Amino acid sequence: MREKRQSHKYPNLDAYEVLEKMGEGAFSIVYKARHIDTDKFVAIKILRKFQMDLAQKQSVLKEVTIMRQLNHPNIVRFIEFIDLDKYYYIVQELAVGGEVFTAIVNYTYFSEDVARHVITQVAHAIRYLHEEVGVVHRDIKPENLLFYPIPFQPSPNPYSKLRRSDDPNSKKDEGIFIPGVGGATIGVVKLADFGLSKQIWEHNTKTPCGTVGYTAPEIVRDQRYSCEVDMWAIGCVLYTFLCGFPPFYDERIEMLTEKVAKGEYTFLKPWWDEISPEAKYCVSRLLTVDPNQRYGIDEFLNDPWMQKCSLVPTMPQ
Ligand code: ADP
Ligand code: MG
Repeated sequence: MREKRQSHKYPNLDAYEVLEKMGEGAFSIVYKARHIDTDKFVAIKILRKFQMDLAQKQSVLKEVTIMRQLNHPNIVRFIEFIDLDKYYYIVQELAVGGEVFTAIVNYTYFSEDVARHVITQVAHAIRYLHEEVGVVHRDIKPENLLFYPIPFQPSPNPYSKLRRSDDPNSKKDEGIFIPGVGGATIGVVKLADFGLSKQIWEHNTKTPCGTVGYTAPEIVRDQRYSCEVDMWAIGCVLYTFLCGFPPFYDERIEMLTEKVAKGEYTFLKPWWDEISPEAKYCVSRLLTVDPNQRYGIDEFLNDPWMQKCSLVPTMPQ
């Protein structure tokens, strides 16, 4: 990579060889890269600093501050932050499987077992954020859920319908499986993109951000409810996993807003006919308009549908 360094101290962009593009967002492009000394692969999120105003720059610094605190197997790991003249570079653990979004687009929808397998891992990440770090993610969606495929484990495995992909481009030689209709493993799921996330209480003190004792009731209330936005989003994601389309949709933005505000969604026939009542109940407890009635993260993890056997994989060593 060619950009003049501001200082000769590490972190150092020259330590990486930038390879192919993994994805992009509004201000960022994410590349796969190789750390030259260790030969390890990483993801580098490159943000166009020169097109940003002050608030946007501060938001990137906030994203980095939040990421630095995180340490969870279902969250992409922060490696280092490089701040040069024109760009910011956020170096992260590489989720080689890419977006769960692509997996749904390719395979239409997930079986209940696969949906549970993925959403359970997202829920573990969210429980960690909400209950241990005091962070609300605020942008949970299939594009921000990445995965790391794991090699086939013949048994014991709760998936009865695991099958090798027929796709000639799948990485058969590495023994890696890709998700298929009716089930196959997508391995370890990693939550990414802390660009909209918010710290609601200090990590170490477990007290609200700002001066304790002077915090206004609406802020305390707001902080309590803010976790619930992630639960709503998990509901939308789970709905989408199970049928292949989102619960709320309208081409006209005003109509869509109206539907969301009223919580107007249905388990559309015929797509939802085969899906279990337990799965529908679980989705409905997440897509509850009143945040007081909506599932919190522990209630969600204890839901009867979620409690059914699900494989939670670990990263291969
Ligand atoms: P934005 O804030 O612009 O949405 P993201 O952090 O979501 O940026 O990254 C944009 C896209 O880049 C993701 O949707 C994904 O496709 C890809 N990506 C991001 N981080 C990684 C990663 N650690 N490993 C692999 N791909 C990634
Ligand atoms: Mg994103």
